[in-house]
Amino acid sequence: MNARLPPEVLRQHLIDPEVCIRCNTCEETCPIDAITHDGNNYVVDPDICNGCMACVPPCPTGSIDNWRLVPRAQAYSLQEQFGWDELPAEKPLPADAAGEPAQVGAIADGDVAEAVVAAPAAGAAVPPWSAAHPYVNLYTHKTPAVATVVGNYRVTDEDTDSDIHHIVLDLGNVPFPVLEGQSIGILPPGTDAQGRAHHARQYSLASPRDGERAGYNNLSLTVKRVTHDHAGQPVHGVCSNYLCDLARNDTVRVIGPFGHTFLMPNHAGANLMMICTGTGSAPMRAMTERYRRRIARGTNGRLMLFFGARTQRELPYFGPLMKLPRDFIDINLALSREPRQPRRYVQDLIRERAGDVRDLLADPDTCIYVCGLKGMEAGVLEALRDVVVQGGQDWTILHDVLRREGRLHFETY
Ligand code: NAP
Repeated sequence: MNARLPPEVLRQHLIDPEVCIRCNTCEETCPIDAITHDGNNYVVDPDICNGCMACVPPCPTGSIDNWRLVPRAQAYSLQEQFGWDELPAEKPLPADAAGEPAQVGAIADGDVAEAVVAAPAAGAAVPPWSAAHPYVNLYTHKTPAVATVVGNYRVTDEDTDSDIHHIVLDLGNVPFPVLEGQSIGILPPGTDAQGRAHHARQYSLASPRDGERAGYNNLSLTVKRVTHDHAGQPVHGVCSNYLCDLARNDTVRVIGPFGHTFLMPNHAGANLMMICTGTGSAPMRAMTERYRRRIARGTNGRLMLFFGARTQRELPYFGPLMKLPRDFIDINLALSREPRQPRRYVQDLIRERAGDVRDLLADPDTCIYVCGLKGMEAGVLEALRDVVVQGGQDWTILHDVLRREGRLHFETY
């Protein structure tokens, strides 16, 4: 499939409009601005895209991973792509354009573009072997589900800058099956400065599969009100402000669910190592609650949590978290801006707890989940590597095993 193509043939990168949730992740990720959108579709400019694949792993739906072999002179234009409701049928290449091995007009999902071979991702591309089967893409931007707000309250101290909300949405009698680690999309009402409908924003579930309130068809999210960008400049987060301002009985358009790899194991004795910052704690809360609800079955393995926040008062769910029994979960809080205390990040604590981290990593029943700020990804990987190397093991081999066995997962933004 990666045979060299004749120069007149283009492996054109396309986005499946039926599956795409218009979340803007690809447009934000593309390093060379090859992706754009109008009010209808997200599209790839064939004159700019170099097939670098940077946009593929972050896409929550896989809609980004579509490729067609086309005569370069007949590449699908932006205008054509804007008008699509579905991808065009695969067409054989004209005989004069088809090189020897490249006879067909389509490339299967997941094939690496020829021009640039991407480095292996830090995390696994498969779920743990015992994960339950996830449902994905049941509701799209054209067919959203409508949920009703049944709870919305702040989970950080009132007098801190971090206004983080726990929002409970009820799906009524709409089937919306989810698993811990999955996410949903929210369609905020209104349009952007160009008059285009706001794109969907993705949030991890903070509740377990059987609901925030067990047995009810509801789910919860952890949402931080965005008032400043990463550079500290004032900015109004469209969806986070919309969600944090919702009142009981308001309705919300929901799409998804998404995610088929960042899933928890289900077999007896499986351990979880959870590493998160801020609102990245949402999936950890979901998994922890799943474990808590089945304590009586006696089948749980060990839980170890590394949780980073600026201060204790800005750490979402601090109160409920500290009420969990210590023999149920091993909690390690890394506070970075606590007055008169040294700055601590989750990776510092991983190193401090090296012996216990190594023990857990050595157990083939351990799965590791990392969620939160993009910046923590490299630091956490380095900390895990240091801990393993200190123990006389080869990190490269273990890292590869963890990826291959679906035991190391990242969800960072
Ligand atoms: P935050 O308050 O900005 O940061 C949380 C903690 O992480 C702070 O102590 C911060 O320290 C520390 N930190 C900063 N850089 C770090 C690094 N390189 N390595 C380790 N720790 C670092 O966090 P937030 O605003 O809640 O952001 C959480 C992130 O999770 C967002 O990017 C969000 O998009 C993402 N996320 C959210 C969800 C969801 O469902 N809501 C799901 C998945 C991911 P400093 O004092 O240095 O700032």
